[in-house]
Amino acid sequence: MAGIILGVESTAHTLSIGMVRDNGELLPSESSIFTPEQGGIHPREAADHHSLMAPELISRVLSRNDFSVSDIKAVSFSQGPGLGPCLRVGASLARTLSKSWRVPLVGVNHCVAHIEVGRNQTGCDDPVLLYASGGNTQVIARAGSRYRVLGETLDIGIGNMLDKFARSHDLPFPGGPKIENLASQWETDEGGDPQNLELPYAVHGMDLAFSGILTAAISLSEREGINAASWSLQEHSFASCIEVAERALAHTGKSELLLGGGVACNSRLREMAEIMCSERGASAHWPDKQYCVDNGTMIAELGRREIEMGRETKLEDSAINPILRTDSTPITWS
Ligand code: AMP
Ligand code: MG
Repeated sequence: MAGIILGVESTAHTLSIGMVRDNGELLPSESSIFTPEQGGIHPREAADHHSLMAPELISRVLSRNDFSVSDIKAVSFSQGPGLGPCLRVGASLARTLSKSWRVPLVGVNHCVAHIEVGRNQTGCDDPVLLYASGGNTQVIARAGSRYRVLGETLDIGIGNMLDKFARSHDLPFPGGPKIENLASQWETDEGGDPQNLELPYAVHGMDLAFSGILTAAISLSEREGINAASWSLQEHSFASCIEVAERALAHTGKSELLLGGGVACNSRLREMAEIMCSERGASAHWPDKQYCVDNGTMIAELGRREIEMGRETKLEDSAINPILRTDSTPITWS
């Protein structure tokens, strides 16, 4: 049986422990998502959730048929970017496991992990990544030994914007899937004239912004109803991401678009990606939903890559970095 790399994800709302075999086979994660009763995610409360849930997730992993401690080769963890208190819980857990199992520890970059799990799952080789998640919205592509951020949100992540809109209507986290349902209800049951549903569209060069559209969508929903506003919110915000992704494909000359992050679960975003790519002779890809949202398996997969390149993280270098940038991580594999 091939050895196993175990990955711990804890950047924000999700604590997740996943695995990959050293031949690249991904194994599903054990996850627990913190959902506040009201309001947004408080970092301290999310971290408390992660500490409380860690023992249960570990025992779920230990009891799995596809896992054996004797197969463990390394433990990786999200070193950043993310919420400090949450990152610290995952890092402590990973340090403890690596110490007690006497295997190397590898701190990895969460954003890069979204790319690597997508490359593993979809077989695309050198993509432009549209990383659309709760806290992050970036368009990323590799240039030499770094994944470069070509464009990104100047304020909040697109998923965070969707969650806030949902919350303004008392719909709890995660709001994205609920908005997707409401939008398709508007299309099938009501329909109507999209002319009345215009919202701001914020593309600034290669960058994006979502706080203006959030405010406008909340007032639109008061006039036209939540279903119509959800539909329009998806159309405008997704189109802005796809526009920047298209320009990234044009500038870099690359021909694969990869979607990642929780918002990449959305069928309408996937459809827009597919339409744009087919119009320019490119291809659109996305991993299974379980590997779009934050998950430990993607952290294990990037750990596997780093270990293959001979990298490991010494205990004294294992401090978390909440503002770790995508392009500060050297990419050495071909
Ligand atoms: P992540 O931060 O990558 O774990 O993803 C969580 C984010 O993805 C949250 O903001 C969710 O609202 C969003 N999300 C999950 N599923 C969907 C969906 N089907 N459509 C839009 N957003 C989604
Ligand atoms: Mg993420």
